[in-house]
Amino acid sequence: MLALRTPTLPPAAHTNVYLVGPDGGPVAVVDPGSPYPDQQAALDAVLGEIGGLALVLLTHHHGDHTGGAAALAARWGVPIAAHPATARRLTGRVEVTRLVEDGDVVHGATAVFTPGHADGHLCFEVGAATIAGDMVAGLGTILIDPSEGDMALYLASLERLLARPPAVLLPAHGPAIPDGPAKLREYLAHRRMREDRVAAALPAPGAGATIDDLVARAYSDTPRALWPLAERSLRAHLDKLVREGRAREVAGRWST
Ligand SMILES: [Zn+2]
Repeated sequence: MLALRTPTLPPAAHTNVYLVGPDGGPVAVVDPGSPYPDQQAALDAVLGEIGGLALVLLTHHHGDHTGGAAALAARWGVPIAAHPATARRLTGRVEVTRLVEDGDVVHGATAVFTPGHADGHLCFEVGAATIAGDMVAGLGTILIDPSEGDMALYLASLERLLARPPAVLLPAHGPAIPDGPAKLREYLAHRRMREDRVAAALPAPGAGATIDDLVARAYSDTPRALWPLAERSLRAHLDKLVREGRAREVAGRWST
């Protein structure tokens, strides 16, 4: 693994690039996200030492995971592999030349479809470890932004990973997570706690509450500086509650 500097969500400042493959043979590179020439040169130097590059694999379409993909694939003349939904999202930016579906084995890594943070998100199982993309973070947190994310799908994908428990989770940001199941249970418990707080913050039908009201109530334990991000996560929770018939929205005001 190399941590390459990327334009990503603070406090993270790097995206981990995982190199998967046999000793001495060409490797698959997962999520070469850095657009910076010095970081790309560092990756090239390592690849040159360890036997070259076979293909580029992408967990999802976000720029901090894909910013170096096209240049890397072009330099080494290798394909770029990703889920079809990721390929669609990247149209015009990165040309995905090999489509990967749930269960496919690519260069020794088994793809596990885990939508939610992004609609085409894949994790990759390698032995007892799982390359987790943005399902969990070793540093900072995972944002479910309703413009692209879906809280219900994200929770289902966390459950899916927990049902095939990885010994070790290898996140895109921060250090490896040695007890994978414990981290997945922690994430599930935290999101369910937040959903309960959002549901409890909803007033009875009537005047309703604004997003600002609901952030203040449901995220009172979160520093105010993070409320703009919290608001996006709140909207993802509200979308889920509305679909489940537990919340309703009228002209930007929410109630039970
Ligand atoms: Zn992401």
